[in-house]
Amino acid sequence: MSDILQRDVTTAAALMRAAQKIVVFTGAGISTESGIPDFRSPGGIWSTYNQDDLTYQRFRSHEKYRKIYWEYDRARYPAMRDAAPNPAHRAVLEIEKSGRLLALITQNIDGLHHKAGSSPEKIYELHGTVREVTCLDCYRRWPREKITEEMDREGIDVPYCQHCGGPLKCATIAFGQSLPPEVLESSFDHARNCDLFLTVGSSLVVQPAAMLPVEAKRKRARLILVNLSSTPYDDIMDVILIGKAAPTMEALMDEFRRG
Ligand code: NAD
Ligand code: ZN
Repeated sequence: MSDILQRDVTTAAALMRAAQKIVVFTGAGISTESGIPDFRSPGGIWSTYNQDDLTYQRFRSHEKYRKIYWEYDRARYPAMRDAAPNPAHRAVLEIEKSGRLLALITQNIDGLHHKAGSSPEKIYELHGTVREVTCLDCYRRWPREKITEEMDREGIDVPYCQHCGGPLKCATIAFGQSLPPEVLESSFDHARNCDLFLTVGSSLVVQPAAMLPVEAKRKRARLILVNLSSTPYDDIMDVILIGKAAPTMEALMDEFRRG
């Protein structure tokens, strides 16, 4: 590790020790080292499926699009089902165990924070979860495996609700679908109430989630960013640690423990 990075790690760890109410905000970058591919990389799922076919509006509009959606969803799922949390997810758990975690807000749908052992009541999944399926009309929910096992057994391409007949969809937020208002509201409340906002593995381009650190800053929280690349909000960060999430979070936690 370079001297500059070590100095930044020391500064970030000191900010964490001084904080009492930390919000951790995670994006797809925290899970790439767990082997969950970025959807947009070449050879990834985006090269097989057209994003326009996967919008919420198309899903609602026609059986044909619901079929495409379910094919896509079932293609992306095994990588998430089989993935294990990495040291960066475990670092977030350690922050919780230190008693400083106010909330863990994630854009991820992979459930890896749950698998790592973070408390479910601390986790706000802005984009929903692949672990469940929901009816779009009556909002009942089921464990995903229950529905996909039925689909396999009965040879069903598109599942419908046994209670109301509404279409069933993975409980993630599709393009064009609004974010769950209560999750969004709580996330912004926590961002406004924290004294430290730590972003890990997010490009901070997907709105409105990217406004969370801005809101935290407006209320005078300190901001740390751990990411491989720069973001549109680098200038408001107090400390930026450029690097892979797993080794960087490990280094940060080593320093945090030392203090
Ligand atoms: P994103 O906008 O959250 O950006 C990912 C960021 O992580 C990038 O800036 C990249 O430089 C950085 N990054 C990649 N690997 C990293 C690593 N090892 N360590 C640190 N940083 C790393 O994510 P996106 O791929 O543009 O996807 C947007 C949305 O798609 C997400 O918000 C999410 O809802 C969904 N998505 C979810 C998952 C998942 O659940 N694991 C995976 C892909 C996409
Ligand atoms: Zn229903």
